[in-house]
Amino acid sequence: MRFTFVTLFENLVKPYFEDSILKRAIERSLFEIDFKNPRDYAFDKHKKVDDYKIGGGAGLLLKPKPLSLCLDSIIEKSPNAHIIITTPVGKLFRQNDAKRLAKREHIVFVSGRYEGIDERIIEEYADEVFSIGDFVLTGGELASLVMCDAIARNIEGVLGNRESLSEESYEEYLLEAPSFTKPNIFKKNPSPSEFLKGNHGKITALKKTLALAKTKFHRSDLYLKSKILQRIKEDEK
Ligand code: SAM
Repeated sequence: MRFTFVTLFENLVKPYFEDSILKRAIERSLFEIDFKNPRDYAFDKHKKVDDYKIGGGAGLLLKPKPLSLCLDSIIEKSPNAHIIITTPVGKLFRQNDAKRLAKREHIVFVSGRYEGIDERIIEEYADEVFSIGDFVLTGGELASLVMCDAIARNIEGVLGNRESLSEESYEEYLLEAPSFTKPNIFKKNPSPSEFLKGNHGKITALKKTLALAKTKFHRSDLYLKSKILQRIKEDEK
């Protein structure tokens, strides 16, 4: 698996992979990363990558030509590369996307800057267009990193314990139940006594109840979906 970051600011992205789990995963060849700078494909005297908006409007846009040449050079070597363009007007990136995309061979993240990217690049090259939330960042580098991290931890072998993935938030539309570690009592507040008794059936049942309560409290939208899923499963029995 390879992730390519198309960015004017490689140094904003690279350090994230120089520590912890993702660093170790790269050292174990579970995935690779590389970088392409659209400026290397701008062939005018000033290596210009941005320009004013046609029709007026505030700010500058990334010009289509350097980005297009940059993406062509990637596709030429890797025809199956899956190109993801980051933009606040994309569909929301979700855990299901992270799982699905972890099966790809090569993912290319395109980071916009300034007021974004010429729309024709999106039309011509995007396999998918993602936003990471309803807010506007200064550039796509953080969005690309967020998605890459979420995808990478779903690649076989990246996490030591595969069970961590199946018991996580967003499985079957539920948030994870509250978790506790030692000490059993912290600031006079005990962890649930049931967790200490070692009856795994009861612990699982309690965790399910707590996960439902937490989801209902924080994310009523997901809670409704989880209830519907539960009902479908019961009907199928
Ligand atoms: N003018 C654009 C708009 O209002 O929709 C915002 C452009 S933003 C300042 C510059 C770049 O940051 C975008 O091209 C995109 O790559 C990235 N970006 C900003 N917010 C994002 C978000 N919520 N999700 C993904 N990418 C985002």
